[in-house]
Parts: sequence; C-alpha cells; structure tokens
Amino acid sequence: MRSCRRTTGLVAVTALLGVLTGCGGGGGDRSEVATVYVGTILTVDAKDSVAEAMSVNRTGHIVKVGTEAHVRAGLPEDVATVQLAPGQVLAPGFVEPHMHLAPTLIQDLVGDHNIAPCLPPPFESRSAAECAKLADIGSALQSMTVAPVDEKNAREFVFGMNLDPSRQQFIPGRCGTTSTIPFSARPKDYLDACVSKDRPVFVLDQSGHLAYANSKAFAAVCGGAPNCAVPDAVTKGGGGWVRDDNGEYTGALQEAAGYQPFMAAMEKSRVTGLSLADPAKLIRDNLPAVRTSIGKLRAAGLTTITDGGVAGRRLLDADRLLSDGKDFPLRINAAVTFDTANRDGITPTGPGCDPAVDKDCVLPRWLGARGIKLWADGSTQGCTAKLAAPTVYRADGHCAGAGEGRADVAGPDEIVKDLNDYWMAGNWQIQVHANGNGANAWTVRALATLQLRKRATQPVLIIHHTVGDERVSADLGKLRRGEYVVDGQKVPALDVRVTHLIGHVAYWGDAFGAMLNPGAAQNIDPIGYDRKYGNPWSLHSDSMVTPARPLWYVQQAVTRQTWAYPDFAKTYVLGPQHRASVVEALRAVTIEPATQHGLQKWVGSLEPGKVADFVVLRANPMTTAPDKIGAIAVVNTYLGGVATKG
Ligand SMILES: [Zn+2]
Repeated sequence: MRSCRRTTGLVAVTALLGVLTGCGGGGGDRSEVATVYVGTILTVDAKDSVAEAMSVNRTGHIVKVGTEAHVRAGLPEDVATVQLAPGQVLAPGFVEPHMHLAPTLIQDLVGDHNIAPCLPPPFESRSAAECAKLADIGSALQSMTVAPVDEKNAREFVFGMNLDPSRQQFIPGRCGTTSTIPFSARPKDYLDACVSKDRPVFVLDQSGHLAYANSKAFAAVCGGAPNCAVPDAVTKGGGGWVRDDNGEYTGALQEAAGYQPFMAAMEKSRVTGLSLADPAKLIRDNLPAVRTSIGKLRAAGLTTITDGGVAGRRLLDADRLLSDGKDFPLRINAAVTFDTANRDGITPTGPGCDPAVDKDCVLPRWLGARGIKLWADGSTQGCTAKLAAPTVYRADGHCAGAGEGRADVAGPDEIVKDLNDYWMAGNWQIQVHANGNGANAWTVRALATLQLRKRATQPVLIIHHTVGDERVSADLGKLRRGEYVVDGQKVPALDVRVTHLIGHVAYWGDAFGAMLNPGAAQNIDPIGYDRKYGNPWSLHSDSMVTPARPLWYVQQAVTRQTWAYPDFAKTYVLGPQHRASVVEALRAVTIEPATQHGLQKWVGSLEPGKVADFVVLRANPMTTAPDKIGAIAVVNTYLGGVATKG
C-alpha cells in the first residue's frame, strides 16, 4: 500500500499536479478507517455544515465527519491522510436526477451528424467557425457529410441529431431553395434540399419530442408510396405526423410514437451506419467512444445518474452492461417508460446490497430500476408543451399556430389510467414529464386522484416543471401538505417534488421570450414559486438536450443569465425573482436529487454511514463569483472512496 502520510510535501505535490491522490485499500478489517481527508468539506447535511475532516473505511463508507480532532480520535498516528490543497473544497459527488444515457452516447458517435447549435460564450468549446456553420438551419443540415448515392447506399437512411429550430435561424434561400415557407412548416422540403433528395433522411430534434423526415424517408416507411395513412400505433402512442393546410405531410413528426416507424425503417435500411436496434452491441462495438462519452460525465463531477426514460428491456440491459464494466465510473439508477415496463415484464429492482443495513456492502454501481416514467406533454421549445391560459404560444413567433400547445394524454384521467397499476403496486417510484403549466395542472390533479386511491410510500417526481404558474405551484404545495381537495375530498399529504432543466434559462430563455406570451418567459423554471410554496426542487440536464455539467446548472440557477441567438450579443437576467442561492443550488445537484430518487440513505451528502462518493473542486462555489461557478475545475471524483485519478 502506498504511504499516504500527511506531509507538507503531499500538499505541495497535490497543489502542483492539481490532483488528489486516492489512498486506502490494502487488507485488514474492512470497517477500519482507511483514509482521512482534511480540508474544507461541504457536507450538504441538513444544516449545510462545513467540516474540517472526514474518514472513510475500506468498504468505501464514511465513518466520521467533523472537526479534525473528532475524526482522528482513536485512529493511529500514521493513518493515511489526504490533505486538500489551499482553496480546494471537498463536496458530495453530483447526482443527476434526469438524463437519457443512450442518446447522450449516440450523439457522441454520430460525428458531424450531431448538428446541435452552439451554446452561449461561457459554455461553448467549439470554434467560432464551427459555430457559424451551425447557426442557421440550412447550413447546419448541409454540414452533415453525406456520401454520394450509389447502388449500395441508396436505401440507407442518413441520420442526424440535435437540430433545434427554436435557436437555429431560418434563412430563406439556403441550399438553393427559393421557397420562403419557414423550415418548421415544411421540414421535408429542406431535408430534401439541404441533406439529400436521393436517400432517406431522418433528423431528431434536440428536444427528443420531434423529428423530421424527407420524401424518401416517407417512401421507405410507406412501402414505396410517397404517402400513407398514419399507423395506428402512432396515434395510440400519443404521436403524430403533422399535415399542412392541404392535408400533406410536412415532414414533422411528433413524439417518440410518431417517429418510431421511421426509426424502424432506418434500422432495416442500415448498411454501414450505427445500429440502434441492439444497444448492447452498439456499446460493445464502440467501446472507446462510449468510454470517452461516459468519462465526460464523471469529469463533470457526476457520481450518480438517473437514466430517466428507459424504453424497455433491451435498453435496460444495455445500462446494466455498462455499469458492470470493470472501469465504469458512475452509479446508474434507471426509470422505465410506463408503456414498456408491463410489456417487457420489468419489475422494480434495487442495488445488489444495501450499505444502510449491511456494513460490508460495497454499494454497486447498478442501483436498479425503480422508476416509472410517463410523458404528459412535449417540449416547450418544440411548441408542444401543454400550456393553459393565460399562457399561450405567440401568434407571430417560432411557434405560431401552436396555441396552447399539445399534450400526450387526453387529460388527468388518462394520466391516472396509465399510472394506476404501478401506483397500486406501491413499489415503483412515479415520475411524470410535464413542461407546460397545463400539463402540470393535469399532473397535480392526477396525482391527487391516485393518492386518494392509495397512499404513496415513495416520493413522486415532476420532471421539468418548466412554464411557471403560481396557481400550480400553490396547488403542489397544498398536495404536499395534505391540504389539496379533489372532488370534495381532502387528499392525504403526498411527497411530490420537482426537477428543472435549468439550461432552459441559459440557452433558450430569450427564445422563449419570442415564443410565449409577454411575461411568461420570466417564469420558466420558477424557483421563486418553488421556494414560496415549499416545493423541493433539483436541477438536471435532460442530456442530450443540454450538457450534463452540474456546476453549470448551479451557475445558471444562481444568475438566471440568458443569451440571445444567433450572436449572443444580447444577454440579460431572466426572471430575477426566481434566482437560487448557491446553497440552494448545491443542494439541488446533490442531496435533493438523491432524495427524489430514494437514494439519500447512500449518497447526496457527506455524513457517517453514507457511501464516500465525493468530488474535490479547485475552488469553493460558496465564495466564487456566481458567473464563474460553472468554470470551477473538478480536480478529482471519488466513487466509494476510490479516485478516478491517482
Ligand atoms: Zn427527458
């Protein structure tokens, strides 16, 4: 075992390398303290205590946290010690409450077919030249390298990801078109003109709620005919193929059910591209790229992620395969989509052992699949959030004609119907995606109805909760306190919580101003209302929608700074009344997301008995200028007391 005696030399070396060396391991009693960490420790416990030291045993569990004297009491003089360098802090590992693992990995595999718009200045790493290519829809589509059509590839789909017409400009005349009809009204024509008219083209919108298909793609799905009737499965699954005023398909496809037939046709057509049909094989065939992609998550300080919408057994198996990998650096907690859990006979599971009851349990990286995910509506920037008066999509903006948006369900009763069996089983953790204030109002009512039928024993999570409406926040608070009444009956208190995609503020805030009725954009991700009505909130990326970088979320929630596309010249604070404090925002990326997923007994804060998942940061977010918090370097990340580096 390497000696880790505390010395000034170690401090100097640590500071020089910017890296902390993980100590511990070796033989002996596994409950014995292996390493003591000394420095500024943000525990994120109930009192947000700042400690001087923390000890970790050989099972990777935290033994003591507190003053250095308290932590060292009874330990041998020469116990391995890691001294943080000056200025560094140690904090709980970040917990991502909602992202999508498969699309996050795939977007890194598709190369120049990932045509996401660039991020505002503090958050972008691509060059100005690359960003210029992606600034407008036409040139973004043209930037996809497409091999000339030949006999072999003529039927093979061209697959693109992350187009975002809410931020990427529409410039008439691109790709040799003469039409002035906006992209969103006729995406089919622009895919034909800008990507290929000879091969089928399918492009996913960055929201994941929309996709675009060209003429050949429709022909591939329609058995060679240019058009065909919308398959039943599309309509039944809450999806749609958009038609124009003449009844023709525009090429816009709504929701996963709407674009599933195109995904299936794409898979059948595959000659050389990525096969998405067998995710486990995809991972095995692309291991180095997958490792790089996962490495970015860990480098951002994440130690636990929730894969928040796993569509069935095959994808769940792929998650397990990943987490079983010898070097896999994260814990994965999964939520399965409501329509595939029953279909595939998936039952809720937890990790292989529980450190809270078994002191010898080394918490596995696979935390199980206990979540059930239902979508109540679409995407705010995709013009498919279900809004409610007085909030509407503006008649003159990117979402002209969208009115109050679009739901994936007919109303609260359908949410109740879809979730009923899982709720009654009592062992699933219920999660509902709701962006618009209308979808959120329906969700509150549906959850209340279910709670009247049977008291939930686990927290319920509303994902995104984007378009703020003080009436909905007030009702949520009542539901939490047992004061909500439905059909004349008082509903027992329900532990319902929310999680915000805070990148909506930084990356889309100004776009929302041009999409929603005046004043509505101010109240997206309404942390001020959450606070006022006592509704616990966390922050998430929804990756691939935004990058999974928790310190960026903290900065975005604390500053509420937004930037105007395309050139970011205009920047301002959007809804200052909803700014978070740094303490609140740090809790929102650690203990709160852990609590929302029932993981708080193991992770989320640094307290005795918990697992030693933590990060070392180069600077203290509590004392860093708010607009610099996102730039704080993650020096090292520890999982169960084991460091990534060193
Ligand atoms: Zn999502």
